[in-house]
Amino acid sequence: MTIEDFRPSKKITTFYPPQRILMGPGPSDTHHRVLSAMARPTLGHLDPVFVIMMEEIKELLRYAFLTKNKMTFSVSAPGSVGMEMCFVNMIEPGDKVVVCRNGVFGPRMVENVERHGGVAVVVDDKWGEPVDPQKVEDTLKQHPDAKILAFVHAETSTGVLSDAKTLCEIARRHDCMTIVDTVTSLAGSPIKVDEWGIDAIYSGSQKCLSCPPGLSPVSFSERVTDFVKKRKVKVHSWFMDINLLLGYWGSSTRTYHHTAPTNALYALHESLVMLSEEGLEHSWARHKRNHEALKAGFETMGIQYVVDEKYRLPQLNSVFIPDGIDDKAVRARLLDEYSLEIGAGLGDFAGKVWRFGLMGTSSRVENVLTCLNALEVVLSDMGMNLKRGAAETAAHQSYAANPMS
Ligand SMILES: *Cc1c(COP(=O)(O)O)cnc(C)c1O
Repeated sequence: MTIEDFRPSKKITTFYPPQRILMGPGPSDTHHRVLSAMARPTLGHLDPVFVIMMEEIKELLRYAFLTKNKMTFSVSAPGSVGMEMCFVNMIEPGDKVVVCRNGVFGPRMVENVERHGGVAVVVDDKWGEPVDPQKVEDTLKQHPDAKILAFVHAETSTGVLSDAKTLCEIARRHDCMTIVDTVTSLAGSPIKVDEWGIDAIYSGSQKCLSCPPGLSPVSFSERVTDFVKKRKVKVHSWFMDINLLLGYWGSSTRTYHHTAPTNALYALHESLVMLSEEGLEHSWARHKRNHEALKAGFETMGIQYVVDEKYRLPQLNSVFIPDGIDDKAVRARLLDEYSLEIGAGLGDFAGKVWRFGLMGTSSRVENVLTCLNALEVVLSDMGMNLKRGAAETAAHQSYAANPMS
């Protein structure tokens, strides 16, 4: 063998991705301001200028989460690691954790509990339904020794929003700490960490924050950081131990922990600056308004939502695929002809449900109109009897009826 034998068999050159419209379950479209932030010069991760920017990220994240928690920062890894970080720090062997399961992400929480030596007590709700607070209350009564309640605020697999405020209130009454997954809800639906008394919360960069994937904003209450400091057994992960991370993200005198993904953090910084410029309430209202317009268009086509109106996520619209329509063929045509990506159904919903994301920068008027028009054309071609232009007209009427203040 020579060195030449290890060369790739085809000539590989620079990768130029096509310009898509991302309307799936995430990632969402990245705003050009965020993309250009990433292209700025790389700094050393202990450079004093970079450290100032990190402090700003912490402040901006406290705004996004509505918290004064000191321990609020970005994990250098995707949302799944934010999830794991909460469990690995907060569970000691044998600890009982009540986990709510109403979609794809609850079972991952159960996996986390068990892999970190805890005992999971599962509260099940049907796919497409929110977590039932009464069941949680009953379960905590039956298990007074439970230490943590964990649930997903916005279930991306089904498009359901659960009542985080009530669930956290129940947990407090039973002296449980809470772990809340807000990967899809942060910036898209109201989250009030301090007011609701959430102890550990994690999110992702690539959903309603419209940043490229790969970062996980997290925040921990003092209750959590005090507990982790006093743990009897060391955290079973070196990288995710928040005691060690405190030395890097926590204090102004930084010590090396790992090399921060500098350019990715510029992107997060820019997306958070954009969020603070827009204002949280405006962002929530924008997500709602675009959802209403998309829904109005779907109604003209007879497309039905999976989730009851009361619990629908504006940023993730899951709908039943009309009878006789070929799931894969529709998604392939939307991608090939309109460069439009939508999400397929997961698990029990595979082949039955489409998921239309309207997250972050993707949540905008042009996307709603493009999507409705494209879908109308494709479904008409596949034999559905649709009045051309009706969906767009309905969307415009919805926008007119819901002006943005
Ligand atoms: C996307 C998502 C995750 C996982 O985030 P990754 O960045 O893909 O690791 C976790 N929970 C929910 C609810 C999500 O939607």
